[in-house]
Amino acid sequence: MSTKVTKIAVMTSGGDAPGMNAAVRAVVRACVFNNIECMGVLRGYQGLIDNELIPLDSRSVRNTISRGGTFLQTARSAAFRTPEGREQAYKNFKANGLDALIVIGGDGSFTGGMIFNKEFKVPVIGIPGTIDNDIYGTQFTLGYDTALNTVVEAIDKIRDTASSHNRLFFVEVMGRDAGFIALNAGIGAGAEEILIPEENLGIERLVESLENSKKSGKTSSIVVVAEGDKTGKGVFELKDYVEKNMPEYDVRVSVLGHMQRGGSPSCFDRVLAGRLGVKAVDLLLGGQSNLMVGINNNEITAINLEKAVKLHHDINMDLLRVADILSI
Ligand code: ATP
Repeated sequence: MSTKVTKIAVMTSGGDAPGMNAAVRAVVRACVFNNIECMGVLRGYQGLIDNELIPLDSRSVRNTISRGGTFLQTARSAAFRTPEGREQAYKNFKANGLDALIVIGGDGSFTGGMIFNKEFKVPVIGIPGTIDNDIYGTQFTLGYDTALNTVVEAIDKIRDTASSHNRLFFVEVMGRDAGFIALNAGIGAGAEEILIPEENLGIERLVESLENSKKSGKTSSIVVVAEGDKTGKGVFELKDYVEKNMPEYDVRVSVLGHMQRGGSPSCFDRVLAGRLGVKAVDLLLGGQSNLMVGINNNEITAINLEKAVKLHHDINMDLLRVADILSI
């Protein structure tokens, strides 16, 4: 039988993403709405081990909805991967009178939550927060939409300089082993080519395609490259290869880097954060656990955490065809 939930802990864990603050705010306000207490754990699982928790009420999350990053801070905790670390975390969890945990993060954070649940029967709900969108069970993760907008804005600016100089730009974007950011931002920014880990175009075909672009009258080109792409050994190798084989092009590289993770969350991410946070609290109050909340076809859904961690979120490969057609 599940114990009644009266005090919930919320934390952000793993890599930060825009919208995490909005999700914490939603969890806190849903707790207040339901007359239960809420505490914020600082620096993810490490904060639970070090007993760094703060009480949160409606007013403590004011002016957080528009802020990027995470005011609770986040960390990667090696200690939580050990039984001793988790034992210490549980001691603090109990000492603070907590009886459920909401983790905002990626699949590593959810794995930690599942283990915590298995060992100590702590009810856990996961909220997917990562700009990479690489989590199964949700069409959109928190921060992904904001990152897309950031990348499109950056590429628009790069396009201005590329077209003024007849340049070819390779723009490397984040996404780890997934091409969600590259493919969607590439289409959004009108890229000539998009290289993603899910499809190895081959370096010769890339050159062929760029030659066709040139023949069709294009004077500048943008190639968006996902950081996990396997066409070359990295964006700088691609540049060297194209420079050698297409000497007429003035080739430049722009690695967008961590600016993609920052910034004020988009309206989409704020609304998503609100809906996911409210659902996470609802599930705990309904006696549910070991679930990840997500959004599918504009409905807020929940799937087993284990499924979310183990299964793969596939990219929509039809978008590659759309990208090809639009870059003609
Ligand atoms: P991102 O997608 O940004 O990488 P993530 O949640 O996948 O986010 P990780 O660093 O993989 O980030 O995991 C976050 C934290 O979760 C780890 O630092 C660790 O404390 C905990 N964790 C991950 N895997 C495990 C595990 N197998 N056992 C216990 N804790 C774990």
